[in-house]
Amino acid sequence: MLSADIIVGIIFAAIGSVIYYVKKEKKKYKLIKDFDLDGVNEVIIAPRLEQKYKEADANKINTLFRAHVKRFIKILEEKIPKNFLQNFYNNINETDIAFSLETVPKNLAGFYYAKGNVIRLSPLALASALNHELLHLASSCIMVDKNSPNHIECVGFRQGNDTFEIGRGINEGYTVHLDRKYFSLFKTESRRYNFMATIAELMEIVIGDKKMEELYFTSNLYGLHSELLNKCASSDEIFNFLNDCDFIYCFYGKDNIFIKSQKDEIEKRIQRIFKFLIRSYYFNLLLKDDKDKENKLNNFIQKIPRRKILGIRVYNVINEEVIKEAISEAKERYSHAEIISIR
Ligand SMILES: [Zn+2]
Repeated sequence: MLSADIIVGIIFAAIGSVIYYVKKEKKKYKLIKDFDLDGVNEVIIAPRLEQKYKEADANKINTLFRAHVKRFIKILEEKIPKNFLQNFYNNINETDIAFSLETVPKNLAGFYYAKGNVIRLSPLALASALNHELLHLASSCIMVDKNSPNHIECVGFRQGNDTFEIGRGINEGYTVHLDRKYFSLFKTESRRYNFMATIAELMEIVIGDKKMEELYFTSNLYGLHSELLNKCASSDEIFNFLNDCDFIYCFYGKDNIFIKSQKDEIEKRIQRIFKFLIRSYYFNLLLKDDKDKENKLNNFIQKIPRRKILGIRVYNVINEEVIKEAISEAKERYSHAEIISIR
């Protein structure tokens, strides 16, 4: 029997001009042209977090989940300074957590709906799914956009509403990484989420772990952008990086005939992601005149898988040539930066 994906794929193959089609994703990500970042070339300044609550009251939580949430609160407060948890206190005291068969799509274990401040979990979900959604809750706030009637959801490093979205890929990756680092004993089975977590983990090394956590919990994509500018990445490169992460998040590891035929495009973007990370990291080491920079760079590169095998497909994630290019670009930018500072 043909799956619905394949049938849809055949219909679009017949049209020819449409290259990608993915079912069940957010509307704007259906086609490859939606990844052209049309009109998205800036991020909004970090929202000013209001202080509605100063602490979390787990007694307001549905009794089914209360013990789990209490454990989450305990770990979160141990690991993250209280002044970065304003989003968490505002949301946890007014959230509604429940199991739901109807509202959770079949392929998801759960979701956090920022606008309504609710968590819905599949009855089949593992406990780690609740940690993941609580991390979204802890890093979310809604901002009023002065230029449009739309509100903008700021969820960790994701910003978006019904008309645009950016940062979803890196946000999901970092959420998985934080969950693994502090909360869950078990790794997620999802190859896609694991791959995004690898990217986010390296990003955390580039930015610094405490800074990255602060930016995430205070919904500060603008701050992440600024930090990367300081690593000598241009604003365009930063947007390409975020966009590539969104792209990979949508397509990596999925099985349909378009994705199989677009292996080159996926590979190109994966390599651009890691090149960006190596260049930014090495530039920063040069800038700090780190005595151990070559060793640190080596350890960083070791964390990047050379190849990823997904079913019958093999993705070349990175090769020596890309690594060399990243290093020489970092050196070149550093020498320019030096000249500017001497002047
Ligand atoms: Zn998520």
